[in-house]
Amino acid sequence: MYDKKSLIADEFINHQEILDTLKYAEENKNNMELIRQILDKAKPKKKGKETVCAGLTHREALVLLECEIPEVLEEIKQLAEEIKLAYYGNRIVIFAPLYLSNYCVNGCVYCPYHAKNRHIPRKKLTQEEVKNEVIALQDMGHKRLAIEAGEDPVNNPIEYILDCIKTIYSIKHKNGAIRRVNVNIAATTVEEYKMLADAGIGTYILFQETYHKESYLKLHPTGPKHDYNYHTEAMDRAMEGGIDDVGLGVLFGLEMYKYELAGLLMHAEHLEAVHGVGPHTISVPRVKKADDINPEDFDNGISDEIFEKICAIIRIAVPYTGMIISTRESQEVREKVLRLGVSQISGGSRTSVGGYGEEIRPTDTEQFDVSDQRTLDEVVKWLMEMGMIPSFCTACYRAGRTGDRFMSICNSGQILNYCLPNALMTLKEYLEDYASEETKQVGEKLIKQEMEKIPKKAVRETAKNYLEKIEQGTRDFRF
Ligand code: SAM
Repeated sequence: MYDKKSLIADEFINHQEILDTLKYAEENKNNMELIRQILDKAKPKKKGKETVCAGLTHREALVLLECEIPEVLEEIKQLAEEIKLAYYGNRIVIFAPLYLSNYCVNGCVYCPYHAKNRHIPRKKLTQEEVKNEVIALQDMGHKRLAIEAGEDPVNNPIEYILDCIKTIYSIKHKNGAIRRVNVNIAATTVEEYKMLADAGIGTYILFQETYHKESYLKLHPTGPKHDYNYHTEAMDRAMEGGIDDVGLGVLFGLEMYKYELAGLLMHAEHLEAVHGVGPHTISVPRVKKADDINPEDFDNGISDEIFEKICAIIRIAVPYTGMIISTRESQEVREKVLRLGVSQISGGSRTSVGGYGEEIRPTDTEQFDVSDQRTLDEVVKWLMEMGMIPSFCTACYRAGRTGDRFMSICNSGQILNYCLPNALMTLKEYLEDYASEETKQVGEKLIKQEMEKIPKKAVRETAKNYLEKIEQGTRDFRF
């Protein structure tokens, strides 16, 4: 029985409800009256001084996904861009992944770190190596990391992860600092989530991989990750453990994308219904080539066009969520989806265990092939040339604006008042400390233009003053 408030995976991600949703979407894919209603519901609306977006239910979103009328698709894309601008402005948050260990006891058939892979070198960073990686990342200009590790209670116990987080936060190299550590590790217990919350992590990220239980069990044949319900209920335990911000994701290509989108949106509805807070982020990875993995072995690969449509619909359906795209995608695809609602991207990434300190990109322990191999400086310049503001901001979480507080700022359209000046100040720090001369020139011009868009005069004046202080060498201002 479908119940979004239930704490049992099979009830809040209910197979029959997904099948009924797919049927409903198929039956209504040309029902223009309904489609119009859905698009109207999703449009940003003025409420006093604020702009609010209603979002969509999984059923409504699936009708849009199923609809193949070209004009509707065009409208979906425009609406996604409009919502992105209304909620997030033209800022794009930048982060990098940091792989700590590829030891893993699971049997995930799409991942080269699976336990049966005997030829991939196994590596786990020592604290000294973590320190060197973090220095290399700080020297690129990163302020925000997502740490990644395989699941292995002996090699990567929670104490190891906590040690790494401590090391990462402790390193202050030149003007560098990692100010937010997001964590992507396997599903765990409330006690361990509590430890992560106490360590001051940002978002806890866990991809569902697939919401289709039968496929999930086959794709995860061995190891603790085989337990679908334990994995699917992880976010509820994370929240119980005191983690305010959680990040969802599907690994597209494993199962039918329509099924996955319905499941993903039901998961978001569940978190909102139970905890009053939806997902802080949603990631949309696609299966990539890796050591002994060939994406063509999976039948459900999706075209770039469908991928773009999915991104746009997620933006419309869950307007408050941060949407993440990694370097699994090429520059070309990233450019398209940035216009359709993506608000966070990684840059200059290496997906091997250790590698940021090396001159040449190591590939022996890579989790997947990186498509976008540009440097962070190139990514920053590219974003600015498209009129976007690369942001290294971590202010919300450090000022306690997490979970429902973040969501209410976002839902009331207030995000712009805090985020624009914060984004510009962190960009200024980047330009002063790490950018090439060319990037700096593009950036200075952008900052000047964007400063004029800060609505409140007092905020604008203070931000101007802070920018001058950054030029003189002070760091880490925030609103
Ligand atoms: N081990 C952790 C877990 O069990 O959730 C998470 C860390 S894993 C390093 C991060 C994510 O990479 C996985 O959740 C999976 O979605 C993704 N991934 C694994 N193999 C991949 C591949 N071949 N191509 C693209 N992404 C992949």
